[in-house]
Amino acid sequence: MQSNLKAVKDGLAREVAAATRILVAEKILDYSGHVTTRLPDDQGFLIQTGLDSRAELRPERLLVVDYEGNVLEGEGNPPAELALHVEMFRARPDIQSVLHCHMDLAIAFTMMKNVQLKPMRARAVRWESGIPTHPDPSHIKHADQAAALAKTLGPHHAVLMRAHGLTLVAESVPALLVDAVHFQENALAFMQVLQAGAEPMPLTEEELVQINRHEMREFHIGKLWNYYVSRAINGGIVPANWNLLD
Ligand SMILES: [Zn+2]
Repeated sequence: MQSNLKAVKDGLAREVAAATRILVAEKILDYSGHVTTRLPDDQGFLIQTGLDSRAELRPERLLVVDYEGNVLEGEGNPPAELALHVEMFRARPDIQSVLHCHMDLAIAFTMMKNVQLKPMRARAVRWESGIPTHPDPSHIKHADQAAALAKTLGPHHAVLMRAHGLTLVAESVPALLVDAVHFQENALAFMQVLQAGAEPMPLTEEELVQINRHEMREFHIGKLWNYYVSRAINGGIVPANWNLLD
């Protein structure tokens, strides 16, 4: 591997490890779930092993896997749901990073009759095109199951998985972290309205247009990445020498 490609790979591996640890701290990941990201030049993607703890994930432990699901580099076996990431990357050339998790609040919205999770908070404008629910509740272990999930996701940025979890896709690892935080905030807001016994009032089309007019996604991702990484460094969750804020 050429030295500049190795530097890029090492930087992406630190982002994946840091985002994974931060998502554990935010109670979005726990003992399971995974963050993945593509390497440049069609070199495959980074994924953690099935066994490594999400709370202490180290960049050098990440595996490099190709788009057929073969492990190209690293020690240990990929997670049982590797196929989910492979098929998402195959189906969506426009995305760089994938999060699969078993967020409690997301799962709750796959278990309610006649309730459709929709954007409630301004930052949930990210999901204005829709948040489909995949009907198959089984764990995604095979390519055909994963391809069906990718089909349910379609062109959207989030897919709920019936009685199982959530998959988010984004343009980078920092973007994915920010999306995950906002997805949870939005699901919580919706749940709080339901728990108050009130009728949810999701953002209207006009309001979404209004929000989009002022949306500064790149700036916002940079701001929140700085916030979450700095806080994780100060809290001893992420080592300072990973140089994530350079
Ligand atoms: Zn799962």
